[in-house]
Amino acid sequence: MAASTHRTCSACGRTNRIPPSHVADRGTCGACKAPLPPSSRPIDVDAALFDAIVGSARVPVLVDFWATWCGPCRMAAPEVERAAAELAGKAVVLKVDTDQNQDLAARYQIRSIPSFAVFSNGKLVSMQPGMARASDLIRRALGSANAA
Ligand SMILES: [Zn+2]
Repeated sequence: MAASTHRTCSACGRTNRIPPSHVADRGTCGACKAPLPPSSRPIDVDAALFDAIVGSARVPVLVDFWATWCGPCRMAAPEVERAAAELAGKAVVLKVDTDQNQDLAARYQIRSIPSFAVFSNGKLVSMQPGMARASDLIRRALGSANAA
């Protein structure tokens, strides 16, 4: 089964499967044809979904490497939520639980959390550890788009 994300239709409540390459696009509900706005919340991913989205997204991907026991990560979480809402349609925001996904943490040599990475066209363009504000995260995500 191919990795995919899900989006619930606000009109009829039906859950729609969204292919990884379309997470930042406006879609149409398969049941009632109502528009499905682009993803505006952080998406929890495992390695398969991470690779699928980072490898196929046509917009920058901001990744929050975090863990449940990490206090600064919990403080950063509302900022990440805010950034995802602002970035809807312009960038995708992913959350990687580094305890559940130690292979991803090892691949990107995550030594401290939270760490925020930005990917563009499948490539890592920035990685910065430490707590960050929403405005800062947005600037980093969109800055990479301008540079690419
Ligand atoms: Zn619907």
